[in-house]
Amino acid sequence: MFARVRAAAVLLLGVTLLSCHAPVRRGRPAEDAATLRYHLTYVREPEHAVDVEVVRVGRAPREFLFSQPGAVASVSAFLEDGTVRTLAVEEGRVLLPRDTRFLRYRYALDAVIRKRGLDFFQGSGDGDARHVAGRAYLIRPRVVPPGMRVELSVAGTDALLPWQPGENGVYRLRGEDLVDSGFHGFGGRRCQVRLPDAVLDVAILGRFTHLSDAAVCTWLGKAAEEVRTVRRAFPHPRITVRVIPAPGHPGPSVFGMVRWSSPPSISISVGQDARAEDFERDWVALHEMLHLAHPVFVPRVPWLSEGLATYYTEVARARSGRQSPRRAWEELLGGFARGRDGNDTRTMHEAVSQDGFSLAVYWTGALFALHLDVELRRLTGNTRGLDDVLERLAARGGSSTFGAFGVAVDAVAGQPLFNALLERHLSQPAFVEQAGLLEALGVQEGPNGVSLVPGRDSLLRDSVVGRRSHGETP
Ligand SMILES: [Zn+2]
Repeated sequence: MFARVRAAAVLLLGVTLLSCHAPVRRGRPAEDAATLRYHLTYVREPEHAVDVEVVRVGRAPREFLFSQPGAVASVSAFLEDGTVRTLAVEEGRVLLPRDTRFLRYRYALDAVIRKRGLDFFQGSGDGDARHVAGRAYLIRPRVVPPGMRVELSVAGTDALLPWQPGENGVYRLRGEDLVDSGFHGFGGRRCQVRLPDAVLDVAILGRFTHLSDAAVCTWLGKAAEEVRTVRRAFPHPRITVRVIPAPGHPGPSVFGMVRWSSPPSISISVGQDARAEDFERDWVALHEMLHLAHPVFVPRVPWLSEGLATYYTEVARARSGRQSPRRAWEELLGGFARGRDGNDTRTMHEAVSQDGFSLAVYWTGALFALHLDVELRRLTGNTRGLDDVLERLAARGGSSTFGAFGVAVDAVAGQPLFNALLERHLSQPAFVEQAGLLEALGVQEGPNGVSLVPGRDSLLRDSVVGRRSHGETP
């Protein structure tokens, strides 16, 4: 992730409710699988909003919540006897009366933007297009019953959700798909990136002064190709990317994020006045896509996921030829210096447990990733490395515990490695391992910048950042 965007937007609030168009049976046979039918309607008048209707079928849950509460104050519950009750949303939660057939509410996108400014989660966009995170606007069951099915449809505009709709435009989802429903785009324009093994569906949610839609897709396509210098195949057969113009920013990417919807969804805000050539130095799209190359850590381990993505952002740009090996090492050393700045004598353990998403977290993680990669190569005669750990974990599914990551490292190393190396980093002042590691690699920093000289492990150094084509083993 990177800097945040905030700006202002305009317009007024109005309330209309959409009509219920799903057949609802009276009585619910106990054998009915629980199903929720979501009907989303993109509204433009008097200003942009999303009307949400959720129809309960079978033994559907009654307790709902907004994962990120705050923008919806109440919902309307429509009961079997024809009465309607207005229910306040308290701490994001709503308990529906027992005989609720369906609920409705309006997510007042433009009113939220006017009140809070452009926000990556609660609402942003430009012209007729809007961007919003499912966690902010889409109510979901507090507990998802096993086997629960969800049908979802969108009316009023072309939407880019993380999932692919089936025939008739209806999304058929599992209940758990709503737990993190990712990023959603409404309106805007589309382009598509086709890789040999994957497709990126892209929504461009507003106007750019100098960028064509084709230039946006070319940029994203190059980043996706660079991910394929780390993993043998692009990590998912299809992902979605939303690109949001950031007014007043001339540069390329301002901020990007991946959400762990299923499949993951990426959104990136890009300076509205950016030019195609600005993307040459951009790293944000690649960084976000590299998060797809490592497993989702459960529970989260931000220093490891950010460390892996940060390390590979420099490595992959060298492997593709977008930057020289020397430049990659300059970028890594510059990052280590920024991470070290103000870190005093804190141990890595202290740095990563106190700081959330600080530069120290990103760059101590990146240093550890580099060290792991080098040790794996040293122990295997430079035949295997950190890429193989990611490949191994991917073959075991999309998620991993921290412990399983360590086990995979040791399996690739052919001997215990992970715990001892981790302990060395965590217990000492952060970045203290850097000097010895770089000396062995033959990476020297002098008054004229970084130079690459012969060293004990300079062969490993050159393998890490050496040119390679996609899916090729070093
Ligand atoms: Zn990141």
